[in-house]
Amino acid sequence: MPESTPQSLWSATLGGEPPRYGVEIKGSSGCDVAIVGAGYTGLWTALTLIDAQPDLRIVVLERSRVGHGASGRNGGWCSALLPISLTRIASRHGRDPAIAWQQAMFATVNMVGQFAASAAFGRFDPQFHSGGTITMAHDVAQEGRLEKSFAEMRSFGFGDDDIRLLSAHESTAYCRADHVIRALVTPHCAALHPLRLVHAIAEAAHRAGVRIAEGVAVHDVAPGHVHTSAGTINADAVVLATEAYTTRLPGRRRDVAPLYSMMIGSEPLTSDQWSSIGLTDRPTFTSATNMVIYGQRSADGRLAFGGRGAPYHFGSRIADGFDTDERVRAHLREAVVRMFPSVAEVAFAYHWGGPLGVPRDWHPHVAFDATTGLASAGGYVGDGVATANLAGRTLADLILRRDTDLTRLPWVGHRSRRWEPEPLRWLGVRLGALAAARADVAESSGGPLAGQRAAAWSRLLATLTNH
Ligand SMILES: Cc1cc2nc3c(=O)[nH]c(=O)nc-3n(C[C@H](O)[C@H](O)[C@H](O)COP(=O)(O)OP(=O)(O)OC[C@H]3O[C@@H](n4cnc5c(N)ncnc54)[C@H](O)[C@@H]3O)c2cc1C
Repeated sequence: MPESTPQSLWSATLGGEPPRYGVEIKGSSGCDVAIVGAGYTGLWTALTLIDAQPDLRIVVLERSRVGHGASGRNGGWCSALLPISLTRIASRHGRDPAIAWQQAMFATVNMVGQFAASAAFGRFDPQFHSGGTITMAHDVAQEGRLEKSFAEMRSFGFGDDDIRLLSAHESTAYCRADHVIRALVTPHCAALHPLRLVHAIAEAAHRAGVRIAEGVAVHDVAPGHVHTSAGTINADAVVLATEAYTTRLPGRRRDVAPLYSMMIGSEPLTSDQWSSIGLTDRPTFTSATNMVIYGQRSADGRLAFGGRGAPYHFGSRIADGFDTDERVRAHLREAVVRMFPSVAEVAFAYHWGGPLGVPRDWHPHVAFDATTGLASAGGYVGDGVATANLAGRTLADLILRRDTDLTRLPWVGHRSRRWEPEPLRWLGVRLGALAAARADVAESSGGPLAGQRAAAWSRLLATLTNH
């Protein structure tokens, strides 16, 4: 394939044509639960509900195809990461709720693993492998961030079984990237094939009796009603599981900012290349840069590598044409070669991306109003693979009026303030991306003046992102 052809690695390695899901929706029809969006959030909610109550009439409405959104395009980190720090969660909700949420995330990674194991012999094997995560520091500023994260986890009572700080030498057992001076490892992460996972969930939900309607666009939701391109559906509960695309619904443009994350992917590497890179147990990997980068060694021996930094589009616009960007593609390639010089000659023929839902305070939420029957979950920033499973199970408990440990977690009922109107939103988001990139450059260049510049950019970044 020529280097310039944009295609997702995940769709190229899905292993066959995905099924088409069609449900005839004509005029006015009814169900118990209508779910908007066939990504992880919508499908986990549907599957958990039908498992708990098999006679429920559930319909999942998807404008495009199953897994069209971030769920089919992501980096495949099934991690216990939350987009806000435990310190911030604790300052808002209290220490014990923060710990409970983190522990629920640890358990969620294992629950996704159990589902993946049961789906492994089906049509779509999610290729879940629990190899943990390594975060590497390549300069002193990055090392400082690792030490801070480590100390924070320790201060919340998490021990060696949850997180460890490694020397450069120790880190080579996980990953042999260039210029590593320190690393942080956690076992609470698995690498998986994201598009296979979303199809495996859809298949399980469909088999259990959930009706999935692809090609049906929802125009608006209201208590008891969903207005779609195919007619109006009456439902006791309506779940919005539209993440970044929520901004396209009436009155919701400022609920989240759709920020793009992008990836590149290689053909399978040779065993010599893998010996020089490591990642033998397939830990997902990242560096402690300000601008997020991430990668995984796929089950079939490819490098999938991604990062943020793609432009935010004025007015929170989302369009197919924004899914790739040659400047970002080149930047990602440079970053992966800097990390692993042995891939300098490797072609990264796959390039793709998609929008993340970023709330103004970076705080995800799950919500259900028992009076109106309206529910929603999202705002995971770039940490939605496992989190959407926790959200789906929590939404199911809420809709079934169950009072459980999940429904008492601190993100239930959280409301983020709305983003600023344009042009302030555009200015703030673009400035945030610039600050992250400039801080990284200054940090890696060293020297006293560079240190001051880095600190100034980092302060600006912290102010803009509330971190
Ligand atoms: C490039 C990239 C890399 C990422 N990497 C990771 C990672 O490694 N680990 C991690 O944890 N997270 C990652 N994320 C984030 C993660 O993928 C998402 O948080 C998660 O998939 C969100 O799932 P969702 O079901 O809530 O939303 P989505 O998967 O976006 O699903 C929403 C669905 O709703 C549909 N829809 C929207 N509007 C309507 C409408 N009006 N009517 C009908 N249907 C509608 C869309 O077509 C879409 O299919 C990444 C995201 C991207 C883009």
